[in-house]
Amino acid sequence: MARINTNFSKLAAGYLFPEVARRTRVWQEKNPGVKVMRLGIGNTTEALPKELVDAMKHKLDLLSDRSTYTGYGDEQGDVALRQALRDFYSRHYGVELEMDEFFVSDGGKSDSANIQDLFSEDNVVAIQDPAYPVYVDSNVVGGRTGEHDDSTDCYKGFVYLRSTAENGFIPAPPEEKVDLIYLCSPNNPTGAVATKAQLKAFVDYARKNRAIIIFDAAYSAYIEDPELPRSIYEIEGAKECAIEINSFSKLAGFTGVRLGWSIVPHDLVCENSERDELHRMWNRRQCTFFNGASNIAQAGGIAALTDEGYRACCELVDYYKGNARIIREGMESLGFTCYGGTDSPYIWTKGPNGISSWDFFDMILDRCHVVVTPGSGFGPAGEGYVRISAYGHREDVEAAVASIKENLKI
Ligand SMILES: *Cc1c(COP(=O)(O)O)cnc(C)c1O
Repeated sequence: MARINTNFSKLAAGYLFPEVARRTRVWQEKNPGVKVMRLGIGNTTEALPKELVDAMKHKLDLLSDRSTYTGYGDEQGDVALRQALRDFYSRHYGVELEMDEFFVSDGGKSDSANIQDLFSEDNVVAIQDPAYPVYVDSNVVGGRTGEHDDSTDCYKGFVYLRSTAENGFIPAPPEEKVDLIYLCSPNNPTGAVATKAQLKAFVDYARKNRAIIIFDAAYSAYIEDPELPRSIYEIEGAKECAIEINSFSKLAGFTGVRLGWSIVPHDLVCENSERDELHRMWNRRQCTFFNGASNIAQAGGIAALTDEGYRACCELVDYYKGNARIIREGMESLGFTCYGGTDSPYIWTKGPNGISSWDFFDMILDRCHVVVTPGSGFGPAGEGYVRISAYGHREDVEAAVASIKENLKI
């Protein structure tokens, strides 16, 4: 008899985006004909850069001809893309990695979930709170927690690193000994970016405790401040203790195209592994569980890393950051306390007079007809905040902000 993985039943209701959709639908039914504006989702909206589109069209032409057709490629990714990634890290971040330390994937989210395959079920996991939900849910399903405690909205067995206004939404390393630490910088949902000193504290902790950091840098292209680290490998010693996950989704507008990469260094070690063992294990995992990313997407990725392609991607990123500036200035002009939105596409906004995230969500929907995302959906420390997303067409963002400015005076 087959039996289910009972860890699934521990998952707290996948409540956030379905509940946002439900409340929006209910409101729309009560207010037919009123246009609802959306600043909720973390999904790109603008057209792909021409340089990338041309490269993908060219790849399609090659696939359309039997003399140039290619099928499966290397599971780890096209050599040309892995070399381009290696050169990009060297040129833009001053980080020297080897080509075979890059593993191309179909996106950062699946890598974030899959990476736990490398680690024993009895590892203690620390996560930032609030956090991108996949880090939590993948480890629940992987059996690294006890039950969910509804009264605290926490899973037993996880170590929550609370990100609050007091610590600038970048927590210090845990007091206790943990084994796996998930970090995301620039952060989704808070928009906070860790400084080199803050990351160094985590790297020092991890080396001392032989812990592993899983560093999600999906928004690294949004960092303007040259002092802020865009790769964890800018911190000395990080190759021994950190895996980095990144994606073309927010860099190149590839949310629908699907392409990402992870870096598993040869030097990475944990308590019971030798040098290179984790790298070999991930290679083994990818070769048997994964058949490589789309070759069309990879052609676009190679184009995104050329000087011209990267410049076009930066323009796209700047467009969204222009939206972020409009949103942040609009909210601040009304007296709201905002975080993020400068080196990140998310503006983390505190609700007035201590109201809950959902009440603030309802207030903005009801008065301004704008949908945002309740912060409490990303973890208990998100309570009292909403996340406002800069992804959207400029004119829609302007209309939403104008409506907020008109109708949300507090
Ligand atoms: C959007 C996002 C990603 C990228 O996910 P893909 O699967 O590559 O589209 C990764 N991490 C975070 C925190 C994100 O917000």
